[in-house]
Amino acid sequence: AGVAAASALVLGLAGCSGDRSGGGGDDAEGGLVGVSMPSQQLERWIADGNNVQSELEELGYDVDLQYANDDIATQISQLENMITSGAKALIIASIDGTTLTSVLQQAADADIPVIAYDRLILGSENVDYYTTFDNFAVGEQQATSLLTGLGVLDASGADTGEVGPFNIEVFAGSPDDNNATFFWDGAMSVLQPYMESGVVVVPSGQTAFEQAATPGWLAENAQDRMENLLTIIGDTKLDAVLAPNDGLASGIIAALSSGGYAGDIPVITGQDADVGGVKAIISGEQYSTIFKDTRLLGAQAVEMVQAILNGEKPEVNDTKTYDNGEKVVPSFLLESQVVTLDNYEDILIGGGYYEASDLE
Ligand code: BGC
Repeated sequence: AGVAAASALVLGLAGCSGDRSGGGGDDAEGGLVGVSMPSQQLERWIADGNNVQSELEELGYDVDLQYANDDIATQISQLENMITSGAKALIIASIDGTTLTSVLQQAADADIPVIAYDRLILGSENVDYYTTFDNFAVGEQQATSLLTGLGVLDASGADTGEVGPFNIEVFAGSPDDNNATFFWDGAMSVLQPYMESGVVVVPSGQTAFEQAATPGWLAENAQDRMENLLTIIGDTKLDAVLAPNDGLASGIIAALSSGGYAGDIPVITGQDADVGGVKAIISGEQYSTIFKDTRLLGAQAVEMVQAILNGEKPEVNDTKTYDNGEKVVPSFLLESQVVTLDNYEDILIGGGYYEASDLE
């Protein structure tokens, strides 16, 4: 439907793209859409890639889905290939939000619309739309679930009057990912008052984002830092750790297990509802995760592409939050859910995200 309007976009590229063998861009009714994902290290990106690809294919598009192995140069060259292959639109989950300015200029010069996927792309005016989860709310949910796990809040989010003090350590995601600051700010907005009142104490004193950050979102970096923290805090017993995703939670749990907490792991948060994370919740090692339904995110990104290529305006629900330094990118934010032992079956299995057997 309405594909003709967009097909003119690729004409300018015909003849300059060297090898088009194997039927590049414009075989399928809808033409080629480039989908650039950061890495296959984390399950979620694989699910995102698969969802976006199948949704696009159902609409008749050809899809060039690439994973960049968390390497910036690889992501850039994959995007350049998509542009020269005549992609009509790009969906990009960036590795480092600041590194795509020049390749996005190439996309703009070829009239290729760009959707930032999950992570905001910074420093470029050539980002047309953004779809993600409400990342600040994700952080709030992580911190709220941590306090629930400690018994400071009850299931409805109300204060129980429990005064602790509880010892916690806090981790942040990768500084090159714009989301990491949003998760952190959301979490800190909830924890700060409890730190000020002394209900919650961070024994290492490391409460600045820079101290808590985990470069590259690498589990081994979180594990190393957790080991260091255990050395710093000595005999102080930890009651909880704020982990910004399930991958980092696994590194933190590994450090705690070998650092005297085996069989007695503190309250640990997470994000992504990875199979590993959910299994850790079932086994009692992890307290919570934040479920971000990648099916919904994929569908949203595909709807945006479809609307743009049909000459329509994609639906957005936020036009003020995501300033990338050059513009405020019109965004569609989705809602995430806290998952614990109490509701994982309902939400994840009942919702068809996983089969029960995936989690055995
Ligand atoms: C995503 C998270 C993910 C993290 C590490 C963030 O940008 O929003 O879902 O866990 O990157 O890949």
